[in-house]
Formats: sequence, C-alpha cells, structure tokens
Amino acid sequence: MAEFALSTEAFQRRVFDWFDLHGRKTLPWQQNKTAYRVWVSEIMLQQTQVATVVPYFERFMARFPNVQTLAEAPQDDVLHLWTGLGYYARARNLHKAARQVVEDYGGEFPTHDIDAMTALPGIGRSTAGAIISITSGRRAAILDGNVKRVLARLHAVAGWPGRSDVLARLWTLAERYTPHERLPDYTQAMMDLGAMICTRGKPSCLLCPFEDVCVAHAQGRERDYPGSKPKREIPTRSTQMLMLQDGSGRVLLRQRPPTGLWGGLWCFPQFDDGEALRDWLARYPGVHLAHAWQPFTHVFTHFRLDITPCPATASDATLATRIAEAADERWVDPADPGDIGLAAPVKTLLDKLAQTPTTTD
Ligand code: SF4
Repeated sequence: MAEFALSTEAFQRRVFDWFDLHGRKTLPWQQNKTAYRVWVSEIMLQQTQVATVVPYFERFMARFPNVQTLAEAPQDDVLHLWTGLGYYARARNLHKAARQVVEDYGGEFPTHDIDAMTALPGIGRSTAGAIISITSGRRAAILDGNVKRVLARLHAVAGWPGRSDVLARLWTLAERYTPHERLPDYTQAMMDLGAMICTRGKPSCLLCPFEDVCVAHAQGRERDYPGSKPKREIPTRSTQMLMLQDGSGRVLLRQRPPTGLWGGLWCFPQFDDGEALRDWLARYPGVHLAHAWQPFTHVFTHFRLDITPCPATASDATLATRIAEAADERWVDPADPGDIGLAAPVKTLLDKLAQTPTTTD
C-alpha cells in the first residue's frame, strides 16, 4: 500500500507556502489576538462553520469584550447570545471557565501550561493547543475535526477517530508536523486546509498542496477517511409543549434545570404525553386548550424529539398570576422575550406565536 512520502520539513514548507497565498487572515478573531478572543472563537467554531460564527462572535465581543465581563455576566445573558448556535453546554462551560480564569488566574489564561488549560471546563487538548499556539507562539499541536480529516486522508488512517487507537495515531501525526516557528500561521493553515480544501463531502484535491502525495487521493478513496462513527439507531422521545398565553398575548416560559438537555435555557412547559398535560390542566379550569399545531421533530446527537406544540389561553389575570408563581417561570412577549437563552425550536415557535392571533376553541 502507498505510503505518505514527504518529510516533515517538506510538509511544513508546503503548509506555509499555501497559507501565505490562500490562508485566511482577516477573520475577526485574527485581529487583536488575545487568548480570550481566540478561545471564544474556538469554542464557537466547534460543530459550527465560520460564516455562521462571525456574527455571533461579533455580538459576543460587543457584549463581553474580555474575560472579566463574561465572568460577571448572568448566565441568561450568555445563553441569550448563544441562542441559535446550538450545543449549549459549550456556552455554559465557557461561562464557568471564564469565572475560573478570573478567580484562579487573575483573568489571564494559563497559556504557559497545557495541563492547566485543559483543566478548564470545555477546553480539550486541541482547543488548548490552538489557543496556546495562536496567541503565545509556543509549540502546541491541534487536532480539531478539520485537521483530523486532513491527516487521516493524507496518511489513509483508517477507522473512526472516536476510537482511541485511531485518535492516538492522528495525534502522533499532528505532533510530528507541528513546527517550531510560525505557530499561529501553521495552526490557522491546518484549520483552513480542512475547512476550505479538504472538505468533508467534496474535497478540492486539485487545489490542494498535497495532491501529488496524498494517499487517500492516490487510492481515489478520499471520502472513506476518516472512518465514520458506527451507526446505531437513535431513540425517539416525544413531548407536548404547552404554549400558554395570557389575556394580553404573553406566553409562559419555564427555565430548564442548569444541567442536562437545554440546561439553563427557557422553554415552554413540557409534558411527556397528552395525559400528563391534561392532568396539569385539570388544576387550572380557566385554561382553554386549542387545537395542537402540526408536530415536528428536533434531532439531537443522541435522540430525536417529536414535539407537539399545544396552544392554550388563560384569559383570567388572577389565574395567569397563580400559574406562573415559581422563580423559574415568567410571562414573556413572544415577539420580544428579552435577554434569555432559548432552545432553537422554542425560538421558532415563539416567532410563529408572535404572528398568530390568540384564539381559543
Ligand atoms: S489531496 Fe484531497 S483528500 Fe488529500 S488532503 Fe488534499 S484535499 Fe484532502
């Protein structure tokens, strides 16, 4: 079988030459490169593309220009600015890590110590490597999803990178190729190669600086690397979302517990099935349930959630007050729910409610 036939030095030279001509140099987090800005961008870029991240990053920086302002912010403000980006554990960890950086390190990221970096919530070895190499120029390897794909294809590393032996092999390659100079450029170049050239579905091999030496390309099997995660059936759960509006059209939201699914986000009251919803309604005879809206499915990594939106009204003001009596419940204007974090389907339903006249039947 063909082997990747390029020395480490030749590999690095090609990466730098390609970066000088084609690498991205004007992304917002590439200006004023502080550990804080690079960290926020790295966390946002996990599972999300650059074009989506840019406006979120800019809004986030406008509201939280440094780690201190983030550490001091209420969690609702942080989740609010994350609404729509998904994977909310990232935002909760970001917030926790900011507090830790302020409390334990006086607001300075411990970029001299990779172990201290990876001990911060939500920062793995690759993210720590990116922050260290980009902001301090110290030698630290990265292996994010883009780099995994490039290295797996160049060397035809078979198997799913979630497997520890495959991951170890990729880390060995990542460490080997990491240079001793121009660390910020090298790190950015490797991420760019994966994002712009060696893309998941349709790699542009003809534009790639490794087209003549890439083993996967020589085999004509680019898309077989890296190996996919073994498939398994994901379960389906279902929920009834009660979209209860008061006489003035405000809708009841309830904050989810701080951890777990949609942790800390504001959602409609949820019920496992119609019976649980009817039991709840039986406690409030003044609430009128309307026809349920068309159910839809929201897909998470580990399961699918069938959602049935159930509109209802509580026109009596005393009743409305009695319903929302807990601290984690509030009535909000669906058109302007305020600075709170919302799960994506809840945001969609609120937008739809805002355009729908309140009715009962
Ligand atoms: S030649 Fe193609 S498959 Fe190989 S690294 Fe370049 S873009 Fe990826």
